[in-house]
Amino acid sequence: MIVAMRKDATPEHIRRVVEKIRQAGLSPVEMPGGERTAIGVASAIPADLRGPLTDQLQALEGVASVTQVSRAFKLASREFHPADTVIALGEVRIGGPQVVVMAGPCAVESREQMHQAAAAVKEAGGLILRGGAYKPRTSPYAFQGLESEGLRLLQEAGRKFGLLTVTEVMDPHDVGLVAEHVDILQIGARNMQNYPLLVAAGKSGRPVLLKRGMSASLDEWLLAAEYVLSAGESRVILCERGVHPLDRTYTRNTLDLSCIPVLKELTHLPVVVDPSHATGNARLVPAMCRAAVAAGADGLLIEAHPEPARALCDGQQSVGTRTLGSLVAELRQVARAVGRTL
Ligand code: PEP
Ligand code: MN
Repeated sequence: MIVAMRKDATPEHIRRVVEKIRQAGLSPVEMPGGERTAIGVASAIPADLRGPLTDQLQALEGVASVTQVSRAFKLASREFHPADTVIALGEVRIGGPQVVVMAGPCAVESREQMHQAAAAVKEAGGLILRGGAYKPRTSPYAFQGLESEGLRLLQEAGRKFGLLTVTEVMDPHDVGLVAEHVDILQIGARNMQNYPLLVAAGKSGRPVLLKRGMSASLDEWLLAAEYVLSAGESRVILCERGVHPLDRTYTRNTLDLSCIPVLKELTHLPVVVDPSHATGNARLVPAMCRAAVAAGADGLLIEAHPEPARALCDGQQSVGTRTLGSLVAELRQVARAVGRTL
């Protein structure tokens, strides 16, 4: 349910609406807008309460309208928040006219590797540096990441080259430490439905980049986003990274590009695309980057390594940092063609 206030509603009118919703045993969420405030009720409203509560709210002074949100996800829904969410981090805007390039290695491996990667990302015009410190590996014998040392190296490289940073967090207990070191918390595909992790990330004070689970429907994904939003963090970025494929012969996953325009209808949250995990093959990454920008993605999360052949993780899908500049230059033209900058 959304209660839209009139433009001339006073703080006292808003307070009475909030109070009325609380008295009904529900949790109001205030959403101040440019011109007017809306108050949302994200939790399910018992059927017998819906009619009377709607009538009571409509009768209050300063209320313009009361509407029901028909989707299972509420805070994530466009019905709830018609304008695009634009996430401001320093000078960077995610979800605005500029397509944001986030790039860097799958895993943080060393100081030198991170400095080389960060220098290349900066030089290419990327704005956000990625690098995994806690790696979700299929095998327990594979490289698991440098953990807290990796966070430090990522932070250092980001600061040195004036880039924001993003890294994955896998365990709710690590959320505090990760949030101290990076600008954006990533929740990986394998953890999209790890609800305690979603709630912990939503309380961290950092924006959350939420990857789509490999077999998740859009509704499941948006309900996962809803966990973060309802825990108090309004800055959620959705990241499509490919879904479980029909055929693994040539690609690791199947990039679901159609999710971009569908999500643009369903939600106000920014949508970015990870062409690296989607294809599993560096040769296919440029074409999928172009397609993602053309389809309306707000950003790209690209795996890039100074020496892909020697990468400790996902080298086969990492583009060489030397080629990042020409890739981004090409994408700039696509962005221009669809009325965006990059
Ligand atoms: C990653 O970004 O390095 C990663 C592990 O991605 P995903 O969760 O999409 O597999
Ligand atoms: Mn990876």
